[in-house]
Amino acid sequence: MIIVLFGAPGVGKGTQAELLAARKQVPHLSTGEAFRQAIREETELGKIAKNYVESGKLVPDDIVTGIVREAMNRPEYSGGCILDGFPRTQSQAESLDAILTSAGSEISCVVNIDVANEEIIGRMLKRGRKDDTEAVIRDRLEIYNSQTAPLLEYYGSHGKLISIDGNADVETVYARIDDVLPA
Ligand code: AMP
Repeated sequence: MIIVLFGAPGVGKGTQAELLAARKQVPHLSTGEAFRQAIREETELGKIAKNYVESGKLVPDDIVTGIVREAMNRPEYSGGCILDGFPRTQSQAESLDAILTSAGSEISCVVNIDVANEEIIGRMLKRGRKDDTEAVIRDRLEIYNSQTAPLLEYYGSHGKLISIDGNADVETVYARIDDVLPA
């Protein structure tokens, strides 16, 4: 089962992905977390990603896609996974389709967590991550609107998209996601 958790920054994708991973015993792949870890560990990848992540810009597609391709080839992901924060561009979405097709697999469903904009900004400011300052948040939302939100149409036209209302507490949102996942 390949599930993509989709939505603007701050809608709770990371929290829900962790809960799903723990409760459904499906591994979780967060590209943002992969970058933050690489930055903490000061790896080559971390050095490349640092400026992009800290300023809220998208890391170039080939780098992100390389990480996902490498991860999906590992045995622990062979039974499926929950993707959080990937894909974020049309090119990433097409690469993901190609990676999955060559593995004889496909996306089971894309769950779009829908949260009102004002609520998103409040939630992100509370998180206090280094890239959660008001100016960077504004940039990230703008990048989401221009580059990532168009994927809603892409996945909608492929019959993969389900939107749920994310304006609720963590467990309520979890139950809504659980309800729409394929059995
Ligand atoms: P996130 O934890 O998903 O909010 O991601 C934090 C940051 O990591 C983003 O603002 C980007 O700089 C970078 N990042 C994470 N996922 C991607 C992706 N799929 N494409 C490009 N950059 C990404």
